[in-house]
Amino acid sequence: MTKKFDLCVIGAGPGGYVSAIRASQLGLKVAIVEANHLGGICLNWGCIPTKALLRSSEINHLLHNLDQFGFSAQNIKHDFAKIIERSRAVSKRLSSGVAGLMKKNKIEVFDGFAKFLDAKKITISKDGKEIDQIEASYFVVATGARARVIAGMEPDGENIWTSASLKALKVGKGEVFATIEIAGKVEEIKAEKVIMAVGIVANVENLGLEKTKIKVDKGSIETNGYMETAEAHIFAIGDVAGAPWLAHKASHEGIISAEKIASKMGKYDAKKVHPIKKENIPGCTYSIKIGRFPYLANGKAIAMGETEGLIKVLFDEKTGELLGAHLIGAEVTEMIQGFVIAKQAELTEEDLMHTIFPHPTMSEMMHEAVLDAYGKVIHF
Ligand SMILES: Cc1cc2nc3c(=O)[nH]c(=O)nc-3n(C[C@H](O)[C@H](O)[C@H](O)COP(=O)(O)OP(=O)(O)OC[C@H]3O[C@@H](n4cnc5c(N)ncnc54)[C@H](O)[C@@H]3O)c2cc1C
Repeated sequence: MTKKFDLCVIGAGPGGYVSAIRASQLGLKVAIVEANHLGGICLNWGCIPTKALLRSSEINHLLHNLDQFGFSAQNIKHDFAKIIERSRAVSKRLSSGVAGLMKKNKIEVFDGFAKFLDAKKITISKDGKEIDQIEASYFVVATGARARVIAGMEPDGENIWTSASLKALKVGKGEVFATIEIAGKVEEIKAEKVIMAVGIVANVENLGLEKTKIKVDKGSIETNGYMETAEAHIFAIGDVAGAPWLAHKASHEGIISAEKIASKMGKYDAKKVHPIKKENIPGCTYSIKIGRFPYLANGKAIAMGETEGLIKVLFDEKTGELLGAHLIGAEVTEMIQGFVIAKQAELTEEDLMHTIFPHPTMSEMMHEAVLDAYGKVIHF
């Protein structure tokens, strides 16, 4: 029997599950379909497990530099399998957390692959068999994206791999030996370094998009700023809707789509829904002022033993408007939010120069970089 919902979300990554939660908060009857794991690439393979691995790398770095902090330890060893195991456990915990959120928000979860039968109906299949059909007034397509492959260099499982998982690494003299698993087969390879990073392509295949008026442009689903596709009741968000391919952009689009749909259903004030501003810094010409400040001149960074890095900030020379910033070094993902808020509030160099930053903190470098843009830097 076909099940009916106000909204059906396809894909439960940070775009899809956030959209589903927001729509449910606004009183919609919501279904979500996921072919693999709740949480999508972000929670299961991308943002989160990589940060768990980075944490192990940071600890390794600290342990090998104990001396400078007045400690010593012998026989420092690492267990690669345990490092991976921890990263997988972190992912599992968060993916289970998404299942809990779905339950809490009364969102019905369908475990299978969704495909449009027509613009109002999808079929869901598992292991090649149809398990359900859903009819909905609105759809949000949040099926994500994957690594692009260069034509003529398709993965052959022999010399060119993608989605291979690294099991162990052994560093020899000028060589690296990697134990990898690909399609269930484990083997050791010796290689010089090769990185293929040719971009991203959206997951639009086998979705039945040809049964709708949805347009795909340069590999991504075309949308307007409210994430509406050429079908007024079908939205596309996150990686499947194009660059930038980032989890927070996917989640933000998830919220916009849910609120826009609720407003169309008369359940939310349309005036409160704002289209996404994809580009904070348009690719046009500016006369700019640039300020820089290095980590090695910041007291807190030196105390932490984190002296590598730089903060760079850009202003429009004419108006003093903050255009953007680049941060490289320890704790940058925590700090950049300061500039994000400043940009959102359209602050100028004057506002930032007159802001008092607490001492001793790494954020003082943000202040110093601003001062540097106007020739007023103090500590460098
Ligand atoms: C190694 C790596 C590290 C990353 N690190 C970061 C980071 O630090 N910060 C950051 O912001 N971004 C990071 N990203 C990018 C981030 O993971 C993505 O931008 C984000 O996951 C996109 O969210 P999404 O919801 O659009 O899609 P996804 O997370 O890809 O989720 C899409 C979901 O849809 C499901 N699906 C696809 N087709 C169907 C179908 N037909 N039916 C049912 N389900 C379907 C998939 O199984 C998947 O679970 C990283 C990515 C990678 C690969």
